[in-house]
Amino acid sequence: MDWRERKARGITRPDPTPEERERFMREALTEAQLAMHDGEVPIGAVVVRDGEVVGRGHNRRETGKNALYHAEVLAIDEACKTLGGWRLWECDLYVTLEPCPMCAGALINARVRHVYYGAKDEKAGSVESVTKLFDLPYNHRPTAEGGILEEECGALLTEFFETLRQK
Ligand code: ZN
Repeated sequence: MDWRERKARGITRPDPTPEERERFMREALTEAQLAMHDGEVPIGAVVVRDGEVVGRGHNRRETGKNALYHAEVLAIDEACKTLGGWRLWECDLYVTLEPCPMCAGALINARVRHVYYGAKDEKAGSVESVTKLFDLPYNHRPTAEGGILEEECGALLTEFFETLRQK
């Protein structure tokens, strides 16, 4: 995003440095570990504003018995509660797996600024894999960057599915 676009959107906060990106992806990985401990597919997410985590979430579809309980949706939900509003336009979201269409839609609706993800999702990823929702002319489009700690994010998923097969 160049300075003109930033100005037009009223964005004044600096973008995260590469070190910060890794640090917050590690926070998302910690959330993914929590999901794994509960026997859930290990996907975790955090919402960050001003270098501070304002929302956390991990996949809870099985334990919550709810199709909507994806890591991103739960992290957005918590961030809205923390910040007392639905517009997260100065917030960035970090998630260990490329967002699905529901979560990509939620990120558009929440006006999230940047989305950083780890591994690609060839089956449901809607940022670059199956479709590219953020490239369509919606009223708000988060910028996205994948491949942050990609190997670690992917390894956790591989480990989970291998353990599942062994059972
Ligand atoms: Zn999702």
